[in-house]
Amino acid sequence: MTVAQKLLRWYDRHGRDLPWRNTRDPYKILVSEIMLHQTQVSRALIFYPRWLKQFPNWKALAKASNTKVIRAWSGLGYNRRALALRDIAKQTMEQGIPSTEQEWLALKGIGPYTAAALAAFSGHEKTLPIDTNIRRVLGRMLLGKPFPQFTDDKRIRSLGMDDWSRITKFYDIPQALFDLANSHCKKRPDCETCPLRQDCLAAKKFLNGTVRVPRQMIKKSIEKIHRNKKYPDRIYRGKILKVINEKKRVSIKSLAQQIDPTYKDRVDRIWLQKMVHRMIKDRLITKDQIV
Ligand code: SF4
Repeated sequence: MTVAQKLLRWYDRHGRDLPWRNTRDPYKILVSEIMLHQTQVSRALIFYPRWLKQFPNWKALAKASNTKVIRAWSGLGYNRRALALRDIAKQTMEQGIPSTEQEWLALKGIGPYTAAALAAFSGHEKTLPIDTNIRRVLGRMLLGKPFPQFTDDKRIRSLGMDDWSRITKFYDIPQALFDLANSHCKKRPDCETCPLRQDCLAAKKFLNGTVRVPRQMIKKSIEKIHRNKKYPDRIYRGKILKVINEKKRVSIKSLAQQIDPTYKDRVDRIWLQKMVHRMIKDRLITKDQIV
């Protein structure tokens, strides 16, 4: 049995049944890809059907206002993603819907991973989208590197495609790799029960206990927190957005009181101003909403 056959057989039995895997519609695939970037699958599962109900296709999203898309996105965080998604929809209305990886890549707001994901999952192209999960599994399996890096992507792609380009349901391969990364091939992998154990060049290294997870990989990502604030800035930006969406226009003083009862003008004013300026720059709010 080939590696691909083992992987797909495992995926048939253990793969996650996620709604965006049951469509070849590039619009729905893009919505899921943008949502899943910096959002847990469990959370995206709640917002995905709601979003598609409100904006079922490129056309509906392309004509939506900033306020409308940000409101619909509210609760997912990193609101710039919603505007980027709407701007991509606008481009597809003006230039047509791409079908190849290269055509997707030509759109503003689409990076190499997303372009490959759209081409592969819509079933149009056999191409391998490489994100941190797929890099981890394939870098270990094909290169034997316990902690592969971004610079390994070219070799991973060429070795992976050599093995798998003849598979008919190619679009299941990356999905299967995502699930394997999620269930077995984590930072500290569970090689004992991995279906690819016999074919993986790194399995022995992990199984004989000689691999140590680099310290910088264990450290949690550090979110920016101002002074002794209770939450990271991301939470306060969400609060600012909520106040402005409700009130339409607000003074900086009133805004400060509403987002943070511990606000002290002397030490927090610059912090608040910086957040507001960034949100104006990101087009989440407008200058004239702050009076
Ligand atoms: S054997 Fe271990 S390192 Fe290799 S793919 Fe499976 S979980 Fe990852």
